[in-house]
Amino acid sequence: MNRTGVVQDPIFMEHVMDPGHPERPERLKVIYEMLEDEEKKNLRLINVKPRPATREELETTHSPAYIDRIASTAGKPHFRLDMDTSTSAKSFEAASLAAGGLCELIRAVCSGNLKNGFALVRPPGHHAESDRAMGFCLFNNVAIGAHYAIKNFSLERVLIVDWDVHHGNGTQNAFYSDPRVLYFSTHRYGFFYPGSGAATEVGHGKGEGFTVNVPLEGGSGDSEYGNIFERVLKPIALEYRPQIILVSAGFDIHYDDPLGGMEVTEAGFARLTQILMEIAEVTALGKLVLTLEGGYDIEGEKRSVGAVLKELSQVSPLDKKELVDKERKSDRRIAQLILRLSDIQRRYWKSL
Ligand SMILES: [Zn+2]
Repeated sequence: MNRTGVVQDPIFMEHVMDPGHPERPERLKVIYEMLEDEEKKNLRLINVKPRPATREELETTHSPAYIDRIASTAGKPHFRLDMDTSTSAKSFEAASLAAGGLCELIRAVCSGNLKNGFALVRPPGHHAESDRAMGFCLFNNVAIGAHYAIKNFSLERVLIVDWDVHHGNGTQNAFYSDPRVLYFSTHRYGFFYPGSGAATEVGHGKGEGFTVNVPLEGGSGDSEYGNIFERVLKPIALEYRPQIILVSAGFDIHYDDPLGGMEVTEAGFARLTQILMEIAEVTALGKLVLTLEGGYDIEGEKRSVGAVLKELSQVSPLDKKELVDKERKSDRRIAQLILRLSDIQRRYWKSL
């Protein structure tokens, strides 16, 4: 029996920013078309209908004044929020349904109706701050989802893994002093947007030790990501014992992405999904929920999302042997990074 859910809805293609903007409706259009094709073959996914996030749910992460500001853009053809972030008439509706859709998927997984799932939504969320739109993001979907899971299912430990090429500043800040959420981010670092995410940013107060930042150099690919997930994320996560894993799944680490400068292949995305499924199986009865963040090469993103969904639903999963061999032969650069991360994090995680 297949128990993998997806959130998809035409409303998510009605959020439109400036002409030529890379975060464009076509990103989802090709993914939805692929799902229709795959549906006819063997990929059986369960649709989870999105609903708007409630005011109360939005307020777990955003200030009332900010929510009012985004709501006031409804019906206006164009409104600029940030240098690279704007809204169209339906953006507020789309953003509310993106956050609410993720909450519905989390509900289905936490209540045991689904095993795992992927919210294929726009706009993305991980840069959105409590009171500010940033980096193509309006509401911070994954942060709202984590609060939703904690509140409605009395969870004490939620792991957010963010593999988008950009650091999820908004998500980090939302939980910087909060041990109920462990934020783990891999991102390109050093003269790269948004600039936050140094390895020494580890959380504050009660949240100290519950933020793990993995700054990577441009050009990192399957082997680097595989090593970080196996040798840093896995031991920390098994020690933390999350009750659910949420993923900010950005496909701007794909080798064809015009913004990211990373080298991850479709097989690499499948491998990362496998590692997350293994962790979830041990600590969270398999509960794993992804939400779409960035990813600007339309075809590469589509194929990668397809590879991830095949893993989640265990339809033709990847034979990981070749990638694991490559990971074992990893170069000195990544070994040095792992040593440095261990030095910083060992205070909090004795398995490192
Ligand atoms: Zn990104």
